[in-house]
Amino acid sequence: MDGHFRDDFVKHPGALKQHPALVLNADYRPLSYFPLSLWPWQDAVKAAWLDRVDIVAEYDQIVRSPSMQIKIPSVVVLKDYVKPQKGVAFTRFNLFLRDEFCCQYCGAKGDLTFDHVIPRAAGGVTSWQNVVAACSPCNLRKGCKSLRNSGLRLRRAPRAPEAEELRNRGRKFPPNHLHESWMDFLYWDAELDA
Ligand SMILES: [Zn+2]
Repeated sequence: MDGHFRDDFVKHPGALKQHPALVLNADYRPLSYFPLSLWPWQDAVKAAWLDRVDIVAEYDQIVRSPSMQIKIPSVVVLKDYVKPQKGVAFTRFNLFLRDEFCCQYCGAKGDLTFDHVIPRAAGGVTSWQNVVAACSPCNLRKGCKSLRNSGLRLRRAPRAPEAEELRNRGRKFPPNHLHESWMDFLYWDAELDA
């Protein structure tokens, strides 16, 4: 289900610009931190209408249909708890997230690509343990050399992340726009941890 929201977010970013609703799991934690679980207002209104969510906070704006009128929800909570996924899919996005969008050789943040630590030409496989985020200059410098011969060093040994670990990483990357009514449900626990 997590994936479904992520896909929506990626496919229809425009729909979220106006009055998106923050979607909370039944435990009042965001369904996903990164990308933050948001629904276009149309979906939030529909889910409320179908009684699948409770409305926690609202925008001032009202939408009307012939049979009803409703304030646009700004925060909704699912009535049925969605179990967080245990496993983490090996995707480009999740790999960047594991590496916190930093080159794993020099720490640079821009111009990121992927690097096979053991080069593919030397039998290196495409896996959590052998692929890291790398900036173009480091990628070029490493080329098809082994780690030792490249003179580069990994900042940490690559491995498959735990789902919880990846969720926590996601909290470090809030979206550009955060509605004030969402604040009560975001980052509070992160502050307590600090
Ligand atoms: Zn680099």
